[in-house]
Amino acid sequence: MFISTLLSPLLFMLYSLSMAIDKKFMDESKKYLMNTYDRFPIVLRKGRGMKVWSSDGKEYLDFVGGIAVNCLGHCHPRVVIALQKQAQRLLHVSNLFHIESQITLAKMLVEHSFADKAFFCNSGTEAIEGAIKLARKHAKDHSPHDKYEIITAHGSFHGRTLAALSATGQEKIQKGFEPLVPGFRHVPFNNIEAIREAVSKKTCAILLEPIQGEGGVRMPSDDYFRQVRELCDENEILLILDEIQTGIGRTGKLFAYEHFDIKPDIIALAKGLGGGVAIGAVLAKDSVASSFQHGTHGSTFGGNPLACAAATVTLETLLEDGFILDSCYRIGKYFKDRLEKLKKDFPSIIIEVRGLGLLLGVELTITGAPIVEACTKRGILINCTSGNVLRFIPPLIIVEKEIDHLIDILEDIFERHSH
Ligand SMILES: *Cc1c(COP(=O)(O)O)cnc(C)c1O
Repeated sequence: MFISTLLSPLLFMLYSLSMAIDKKFMDESKKYLMNTYDRFPIVLRKGRGMKVWSSDGKEYLDFVGGIAVNCLGHCHPRVVIALQKQAQRLLHVSNLFHIESQITLAKMLVEHSFADKAFFCNSGTEAIEGAIKLARKHAKDHSPHDKYEIITAHGSFHGRTLAALSATGQEKIQKGFEPLVPGFRHVPFNNIEAIREAVSKKTCAILLEPIQGEGGVRMPSDDYFRQVRELCDENEILLILDEIQTGIGRTGKLFAYEHFDIKPDIIALAKGLGGGVAIGAVLAKDSVASSFQHGTHGSTFGGNPLACAAATVTLETLLEDGFILDSCYRIGKYFKDRLEKLKKDFPSIIIEVRGLGLLLGVELTITGAPIVEACTKRGILINCTSGNVLRFIPPLIIVEKEIDHLIDILEDIFERHSH
């Protein structure tokens, strides 16, 4: 009794103090940072595996995973140790020299993909820029025609630099930044006829996400990519896949194209590749990669020792015995089944459940923001995209009981909403 009467004001004091500190953080965040993100009023300070903690000590289960970045969970010990070791040895050297961890990483990516060569950069949008430049250069090198046009899809997302946002099929991403980079044609996703009509002598490449992530977890039909591949072959057009979100195990295979029984010519990677560290990559077959020669493309930080050390150990961990990939596929199915069940229970709220592996979306009849907020209050971080699609992109190490916990809470929230 005595202890608790003493303790509760003390705890309250500590709590108020942490709230005051957070308020100061958030005021300074507004004051000193450009206002490009609509952030939650939460300061995250620590993470381990599926969990993160905010500065006031609150624990969250993280179904956002840094937007499909933290594939091995937060602060995976092997990634942390590899970074510590590399940081003590060598942080950065120029690409004028050979870099050990960059070579190891390239070799691993090549040995586990369709590709023969890798180029490293620092983000997804840069990987897309690299892919676009490579496709244009390849056409210049090999075609007598003026081939430069790239066909992309409505609802796609390829990044925020000028060429990447010009490739993106969403007006809201492009608005205010015109004139856009010329040479992109947009067609409806998952419609082979639309691509066939858009193809011309000028087409050098088709650029698609295997599953549209930001666009609301939109799935292709079973034979779409096989048909796109055929069309590309018939017309000497390169197939570029944006695997920035779907790659590195997200769908239960190392790359999503493996589900479609096809091989692309170029892929762009980033997000999960570094296990939490910034790195991007362009992978291509030799016949295409050979269009990048000395001086045609480059990046000061691209493929630096630190980022490559993190990516190497991340890939090693993912590929060991296929353990995490198998588990991701199996648990993704379990997760999707539970969401489908939820749809049956709340048909007035859930329109559709979509996705593959641990890239799952739930389209709602209502806007997603209040659901995201209610989850946050209950200690679960989730993401909403396209206004009304709840998107789940947790670390691939997630286990059943964490999914059960999320479903219980969603049930409860939907229950309140349907009354
Ligand atoms: C996130 C994303 C990008 C952009 O990556 P950044 O690292 O934010 O530049 C591009 N394409 C897809 C499919 C993505 O999910």
